[in-house]
Order: sequence, then structure tokens, then C-alpha cells
Amino acid sequence: MFEFQVIESSSAGNCAFFNYNGNCALIDAGIGIRKIEKFLSSRNMGLSDIKAVFITHEHSDHCKGLQSFYKYPHIEVFANIPTAEAIKSSVPRTKQLNWKCFRTGDIFDFMGLSINPFSIPHDTSDAVGYFFCAGSLHAVWLTDLGKVTTLAASMARQAEVLVLESNFCPQMLDASDRPYKLKSRIKGSQGHLSNEDAINLLSTLDPQKVRKIYLAHISRECNSLSKIGELISTLPDTLRDSIEIVSPVEGLSSVFRIE
Ligand SMILES: [Zn+2]
Ligand SMILES: [Zn+2]
Repeated sequence: MFEFQVIESSSAGNCAFFNYNGNCALIDAGIGIRKIEKFLSSRNMGLSDIKAVFITHEHSDHCKGLQSFYKYPHIEVFANIPTAEAIKSSVPRTKQLNWKCFRTGDIFDFMGLSINPFSIPHDTSDAVGYFFCAGSLHAVWLTDLGKVTTLAASMARQAEVLVLESNFCPQMLDASDRPYKLKSRIKGSQGHLSNEDAINLLSTLDPQKVRKIYLAHISRECNSLSKIGELISTLPDTLRDSIEIVSPVEGLSSVFRIE
């Protein structure tokens, strides 16, 4: 059994939950611990039921909740060494966490999953996407990348379940009153994916393979759900039907579940 749900995703905070045969884990912890606990209690669970958290990179919208995890030393915190060191140096309390450091690109097994943390271009020490192989099901987490590399595209094409960043609308970003430097950073090859970048990648996926696509990490100020909707309408029906836009305001996505 594999079950997946985004708890929240936007430029303000990112966290997702999955359950593989009764083993529960989080991807990123970029929201407050109370929100995580509220989500878990809606499932009659608590953080004591979470075995691991897989961190993508050290930006606070992906790890700010981690500072409270010291109360739960059983939770294994997976990250590569540069990311773990960056988090520990900026938030000293996280030094106490139960860190499990991997090397980007080294595949490892955990909770019956085969996990491949792969490199993505983002302006942090060593950002990763995650490729989770759960038996015959492949789930990929792909947010916070400035461009779709050959590696990232090949990971996405192998996924039945894909979480893909669709961060900004270029026109809305240009028209916003954000400083020029920040606009350049977001649009740069180590920044974030635009709606067009995301849709271009989706158009290369095999609609017969994909079961569920979550478009996530959507900017609240520089994107709109209707703009994304317009672009999605250009995709083939079979692919379009599997896409869900994760609202950057409401957060919680639907549940994907397979027995
Ligand atoms: Zn982010
Ligand atoms: Zn980031």
C-alpha cells in the first residue's frame, strides 16, 4: 500500500506525507510543527508515528519545522551532508536531531523503499529531488529547480506519481514589485520553474504511465491558478485528468492511494 498527500506547498512552506505499508514519513518540514501535528491528528496519528523526514535543501520553506523535531529523536532526518551542515549552522538546535546523511546520487533502502536523492540546480549547497521506488510504483518529488535538467526529466518520466514545481508566471513576476535581484534569482537557472517550464516537462510524459501529478510550490504573489489552468488545457486529455494544482493558500492536496 502506498498513500501520499501534500500537507502544504507554496513559496511559504512545503511538507508532504506518505505511508508505505504502514511506514510513515514526511518529505520536507517547511511548516510549523503544529500544522504537521494537526494534519497527523486528522489521521489519528502523531509525530511518534513518523519514522523519517526527507529534506530536499536548507531553505526555510523546506526545513523551518525541523527545529521542533528534537522532541522526537526516533525520527530519522535524511539529508546530504552539505544540506545538514547548512541547517545545523543556521539553527543550532537541529544539531540534536537524528541525522542520517547520504551522498547525492547514492541509492539507499529505507522502510522497504529504494530511494534515490538526485541533484537539482538550485541556489543552495546541494539541493536534491527524491525518487522513491515502492515496489512497482515510482514517486518523484521535484521542486525548487531553476531548470529541467536531463537527469530531472528522466526521473520525472519514470514516475507514476509526480510532484512538480510550477512556481511562477513570468509576466506576473515581471509586473510584481519584487526587487530586480530577486526576480533574476527566481528566473535564473538555479532558481525556480515557471509554469511554462513545468508544462513543457509534462508534455513529454507518457500519459499511460502517469497516475497522478501534483503541481506544487506555487507562488502566492506571482502566479495564478487560472494561468496554470490555461496551460494545462493544452495537454492531452489523459494527462490533464491526472493533474491536481496544489493551492498555495489552502495547501492540503487530495490523497493518492494504491493498494
Ligand atoms: Zn522552496
Ligand atoms: Zn529553495
